[in-house]
Amino acid sequence: MIYDVLVIGAGGAGLSAALSAKEEGAKVLVAGKSYPTRSQTSMAQGGINAVLSENGDTIFSHIEDTLNSSAGLADKRVVEYVCKEAPKAIKWLDSIGTPFSRENGKIAQRKLGGSYAPRACYAQDYTGLKILHTLYDFSIKEGIEFLDESFLLNLIVEENRVKGATFLDIKTSQVKQILSKSVIVATGGYSKIYKDFSTNSSHATGDGLSAALRAGCRLSDMEFIQFHPTALKKSSVLISEAARGAGGFLINQKGERFVDELLTRDEVSRAIYNEIEKGNEVFLDIRHLGKEFIEKNLPQERKLSIIYEGVDPLKEPIPIKPAAHYTMGGIDVDENLETSVENLYAVGECANAKLHGANRLGGNSLLEIVVLGKFAGKNAAKSAKGSVVEDKFYEKTLMDANFIKGVFSFPNKIDFYEKRDFLSKIFYRNVGVYREEMGLKGVLSVVKQMQRELSFMGIKDKSPLYNTNLIEFIEFGNMIELAETILVSAISRNESRGAHFRVDYPQRDDEKFLAHTVTWKEDGVLCADFEKVKN
Ligand SMILES: Cc1cc2nc3c(=O)[nH]c(=O)nc-3n(C[C@H](O)[C@H](O)[C@H](O)COP(=O)(O)OP(=O)(O)OC[C@H]3O[C@@H](n4cnc5c(N)ncnc54)[C@H](O)[C@@H]3O)c2cc1C
Repeated sequence: MIYDVLVIGAGGAGLSAALSAKEEGAKVLVAGKSYPTRSQTSMAQGGINAVLSENGDTIFSHIEDTLNSSAGLADKRVVEYVCKEAPKAIKWLDSIGTPFSRENGKIAQRKLGGSYAPRACYAQDYTGLKILHTLYDFSIKEGIEFLDESFLLNLIVEENRVKGATFLDIKTSQVKQILSKSVIVATGGYSKIYKDFSTNSSHATGDGLSAALRAGCRLSDMEFIQFHPTALKKSSVLISEAARGAGGFLINQKGERFVDELLTRDEVSRAIYNEIEKGNEVFLDIRHLGKEFIEKNLPQERKLSIIYEGVDPLKEPIPIKPAAHYTMGGIDVDENLETSVENLYAVGECANAKLHGANRLGGNSLLEIVVLGKFAGKNAAKSAKGSVVEDKFYEKTLMDANFIKGVFSFPNKIDFYEKRDFLSKIFYRNVGVYREEMGLKGVLSVVKQMQRELSFMGIKDKSPLYNTNLIEFIEFGNMIELAETILVSAISRNESRGAHFRVDYPQRDDEKFLAHTVTWKEDGVLCADFEKVKN
């Protein structure tokens, strides 16, 4: 069987892409390492941006806010396209059944940080969950095929053209190939490198990015990792920006407010980090918003605080800390969302479409996955039309099957779980809201050492059935591959911009660095360069 479009990843980006490829008449398969409704998109709470009426807000302001937040690294044409398409995207989501909250019959909107006006459409504080489930229901209705519990290992590429991908069947540990004329990578971001210091789901291990890197794609702007100011102190579970948007205060244990709560996320995160470094504790206080408002608009935030922090926000301020939340960097794509490999597309958090630049505006990611997801699906379906893929057993599949067999016999001399914990801690400390050269170089040497030791780590569990030890080992390998790209990029960027703050270079330097960092592999060796912004 050869598909027209293989979509890897079943989050909002993957499902939007699949639906529009199908609309173009393509035979589509969506493969994912879990089940579609478990994708990280379901965790999005705050909202999805769109200017629904030019009464008090304008599409021009949406474009301006996005560009301001991007600190010069967004592509103006992409920003304009996405902001202009936003009202249509909301109309479409509404038409297929997304249960948006409403006020006086109209879709309700609220203000998120960095936005000029209330612009985020929401479904209480379950926005991503409602969007994702609606997209999935609609995909089933449209007859899209799904292949669940299939873990992407590698992309099959010959003469710089994609032919499909190899997957590990999680149930049996067998390697299989899926052939397709076009492939869309939609596997989400890489914030889970920060493990317990991240708001993300356990899936966000960057597998799609490392597969793309190995397949000859370029990754760009990998150093830009957004820290969200309000993650719960103990668990890093997110408390949505909607809470601050609604008037929540940030206070220290003395009850003092110390920052304008609606500044961009990087500024607020740094202010909180400074308070914590001074020995203070930091809280989000929403008590004054009242029971009725909280129960109507922020019910999930209240539940999460009670379950994960043991604090009822109606009665007490919520203890918080900044945590890694969103990765702006990703697989480098052109204006059609195509990578440097022909017929291979990437979209959503795993891609760098240059919409967010150095810092993402809250509410713009859900927008990206729908608008650009649909665009990627359409483009991939079109390029599949003129393409031929030979129905044969590809060498990559054999190599991957041998690799998996090999992992079962790797000596288990070093515990990779310990290394993974250590990596997350040194990343949070040295590649967090503040960075400086010495710390970054120290972490790079640790990462290189981990790469050398990987084949001595191996797995303890030798069972082929649902072997989570094996999956986590492969994820760890992917993360240390990506960690190098993040560090090399962060070390090269000797300035501060957006989410990348260098203590040793605190100023923005447009003369030298109004450019994207680009990394790629040549004969297995990582190369890096800067590429001037096109605007
Ligand atoms: C707590 C939280 C709250 C957020 N709130 C908002 C918000 O209010 N507004 C907003 O705009 N943004 C928000 N975001 C960001 C936004 O939700 C994400 O950026 C977006 O949903 C990413 O969608 P995606 O489809 O690209 O990836 P995901 O939803 O992460 O989907 C990736 C898919 O790829 C699959 N996958 C991964 N690796 C593999 C592999 N090796 N093989 C096969 N499949 C694989 C996964 O299982 C999943 O199906 C929030 C994020 C978090 C974590």
